[in-house]
Amino acid sequence: MDHNCLFCKIINGDIPSTKVYEDEDVFAFRDINPQAPVHVLVLPKKHIACASQINAENSALVGKCFEAVAKIASAEGLEKGFRVINNCGKDGGQSVMHLHFHLIGGRKLSEKII
Ligand code: AMP
Repeated sequence: MDHNCLFCKIINGDIPSTKVYEDEDVFAFRDINPQAPVHVLVLPKKHIACASQINAENSALVGKCFEAVAKIASAEGLEKGFRVINNCGKDGGQSVMHLHFHLIGGRKLSEKII
């Protein structure tokens, strides 16, 4: 745990969140500023600052996050589809430096970035 990290504090229960999923390695909660009817942040419990820090030692946790994404999407009724976004670093628009994936859906999403 990084004691200066907002999301580590949420995972630890020091700051409240609306949890939607938890297992041994992964935690997920609703974004405080949702951009769609479903907007869930899915993250590894282990503090990894951003996607540029993913390596052979921790990449399995990314797979675990995506296993959770599939489960949450099903539980949230996103059979028609959804979008997963990761912002990395300053130019990528990341505001909280704990690796997380935005799971967004619940309506027809517009404007593809790529
Ligand atoms: P990013 O800009 O990709 O780093 O995403 C950070 C996200 O965390 C933003 O969408 C914020 O709305 C969200 N966020 C920040 N603080 C909280 C909080 N206390 N609870 C839930 N979501 C939060």
